[in-house]
Amino acid sequence: MNNKVLDMVTELIKNKRLPHAILLHSGSPADRDELALYIASSFICTDTLPCGICKNCMKLKNGSHPDVIIFDPVEKKEKTFKVDIVREIRADSHILPNEAVCKVYILKNVDKMNVSAQNAFLKTLEEPPAHTRFILLCESRAALLETIMSRVTPFNLGAGDYTLTNEYALKADELANELACALAEVTELHFMQLTSAFEKDKDLFPLTLTSLQLIFRDAVAVSTGSKLTLSRHEDTAKLLASKLSLKTLINLVDNTEHLFDCLNKNANKNLLTTRFCSVLRNTAYGG
Ligand SMILES: [Zn+2]
Repeated sequence: MNNKVLDMVTELIKNKRLPHAILLHSGSPADRDELALYIASSFICTDTLPCGICKNCMKLKNGSHPDVIIFDPVEKKEKTFKVDIVREIRADSHILPNEAVCKVYILKNVDKMNVSAQNAFLKTLEEPPAHTRFILLCESRAALLETIMSRVTPFNLGAGDYTLTNEYALKADELANELACALAEVTELHFMQLTSAFEKDKDLFPLTLTSLQLIFRDAVAVSTGSKLTLSRHEDTAKLLASKLSLKTLINLVDNTEHLFDCLNKNANKNLLTTRFCSVLRNTAYGG
């Protein structure tokens, strides 16, 4: 299990800030399933954190909770996540929960939805009944429409789970911190100089990107008044939050996420580092 993501989710649960529509992507199917069930129990448990022993938790464990609906097209031997199923879910979501305070839909392999199925689902995501929660699971978020992505909070189970035990990871983490400071202080030349490190050492890029994204996430958290910070650079996150608008910070998180997608698809690292520079500078300085 990706511990960083698990910690992040647990903190959100504790602070009662868990979003109503969540996307768990990348990582292994077993990890996605496990985290989805953990999140689902937190939604229906009578305690704040899933207790594992209340009636709701027990029924979920036994797979018999009437308010937790799990659908997986692969299990049903379907090639796609059909639009008819999406319509059924939509209709069902308007019916009130039976026992729990809310109804939870765990939808697996949502990347098997074609465009029309996604568009049908978008309507539900745009106006979800107050008592519904959605946990979407998939291997790759690349197949999902931008409009869907803008309605869900994504958690990447595949990237970002490293511990800063070795020198190399620390080096990347420090570089990420300096890059973030340069962005906050609008010292473009310094920013460009820092990125030249990627030309000398291409493997440094993914690790730095991971750390940098965590700092951006923290800045968003600070900006929205949350005490939930996960990087080692809380001061930098505070600096970013004081200098850049919330919208810009969210864009920075999204753009680093997108660069991860490209990395996962084995795009050319040289081109990616160049794009990284222009995308981040443009986002931060509005150029
Ligand atoms: Zn419970």
